[in-house]
Amino acid sequence: MTAAAGHGSPDGTGMSTGTGTGTGTGAGMGTAAAAVASRTALLEAREITKHFPAGRRGAVHAVDSVSLALPHGRITAIVGESGSGKSTLARLFARLLKPTSGQLLLDGRPAPAGRGGRRRYAQQVQMVLQDPFASLNPVHDVRYHLTRPLKVHGLGPAGSLEEALTSLLERVALTPPERFLRMYPHELSGGQRQRVAIARALAVRPRVLLADEPVSMLDVSIRLGILNLLAGLRENEGMTILYITHDIASARYLADEIAVMYAGGLVESAPAVAVTDQPTHPYTQLLLSAAPDPDRPEPAVLSGSGAVPSLLAPPAGCRFHPRCPHAMDVCSQLPPPLAEVAPGHVSACWLHAPKNPATAAAPERRNDDPPTQLADDPSGQQGRQTRPALRHPPFSRPRHGQSNEAGDEPAGH
Ligand code: SF4
Repeated sequence: MTAAAGHGSPDGTGMSTGTGTGTGTGAGMGTAAAAVASRTALLEAREITKHFPAGRRGAVHAVDSVSLALPHGRITAIVGESGSGKSTLARLFARLLKPTSGQLLLDGRPAPAGRGGRRRYAQQVQMVLQDPFASLNPVHDVRYHLTRPLKVHGLGPAGSLEEALTSLLERVALTPPERFLRMYPHELSGGQRQRVAIARALAVRPRVLLADEPVSMLDVSIRLGILNLLAGLRENEGMTILYITHDIASARYLADEIAVMYAGGLVESAPAVAVTDQPTHPYTQLLLSAAPDPDRPEPAVLSGSGAVPSLLAPPAGCRFHPRCPHAMDVCSQLPPPLAEVAPGHVSACWLHAPKNPATAAAPERRNDDPPTQLADDPSGQQGRQTRPALRHPPFSRPRHGQSNEAGDEPAGH
């Protein structure tokens, strides 16, 4: 796909849509990846690709030509199954992995190079890992974990060190701070450990937090406290956050925008409510149909089957076509181009694409599904009638700024 030729959204959400087109077949879905670009992007990946060499078998196409911008002071969620490439993309943003191709931009400029540049970048872009126990050193106490990043980055606290540490723990609702400073990881609950990991990331005063499945290893009962903590950082401090998750319900709860990844590429992106209330890509619809919904009277019906394809040899054309109930002949031949289905809402699917000149005629249907809509149906109504109905969003939106107290967590967790 071409670089995200984004245009700022008129609604001031800071979100806009790429207008790239899919090209070639090698990158498959990746070349048709949806792009989220913004004039106000703090951090941006442009057509970033990561292939891991796999010896004689070729390479694992973990991320293919993905463009995604993180607007200032917003939470962007990346949602997808295991193997979709979402965690690899987070590590590319963190520069823990070197991209095969593509570019990272910070404040619209290439990410600084060299050892000093990488350190400056790391100070501004911090990562919170999935497993809070593994990410903390068991032989050191909380004081050590919070002091060390200040030393590594050569940052002196504005006031006394004691005041800085106290403030950090208060920001993540670990009070009284003097008690937690003396504690070791094994003395903390899972939620408290993740709060320490977040405090450690905040110690160097970053502008971007990359949160890679920060609640997936926590008990369900304490996830909400961590999500509310992240929402509070965005709400009260203007933190820019990338939230990686396989749980589209929590993405809707927390994020301003959602980008959906499948098999190494972005397939749909839009404001969170639009993705969950009016999903246009069949894969997003599949994810939503699998999300728990207590208001749904009957069991979820999954409109699709199979699993994420091997990224050693991704399917040609649309990478979702082996699973897609709406697959047409063109889907296995050409990667779908991006199409803007609504302002700020893009989808990489032939159902919503302008007619491909290479096919000369409208794609031929291949199954008995109800009629699907092509972009030359200006009403857009035909295709929309084919989507699974979503009666209720799985989660309510959060009341941002509400309590992020550690007390959200039951004792002992
Ligand atoms: Fe992919 Fe075709 Fe299904 Fe759209 S309709 S998701 S392009 S297989």
